[in-house]
Amino acid sequence: MPIFEYHCMECDEVFETIVLGEQEVLCPFCTGKNVTKLLSTFSHKSKGEGASSIKSSCSSCSATSCNTCGTL
Ligand SMILES: [Zn+2]
Repeated sequence: MPIFEYHCMECDEVFETIVLGEQEVLCPFCTGKNVTKLLSTFSHKSKGEGASSIKSSCSSCSATSCNTCGTL
């Protein structure tokens, strides 16, 4: 979904809208056309995850590989 963030120059509101094609973007607050596109800021950054995912691949021991416990 092409969701873009816009800033309305008329009422100074920021809003996100889905833009399909070259359709005109109107401010949902004042229905003004004087809007500027902002750089897309994907607010949901999944940072932090992955750093803590250093996990044992073996379920029966704490080793990072099963070479030592022989579960395989
Ligand atoms: Zn507006």
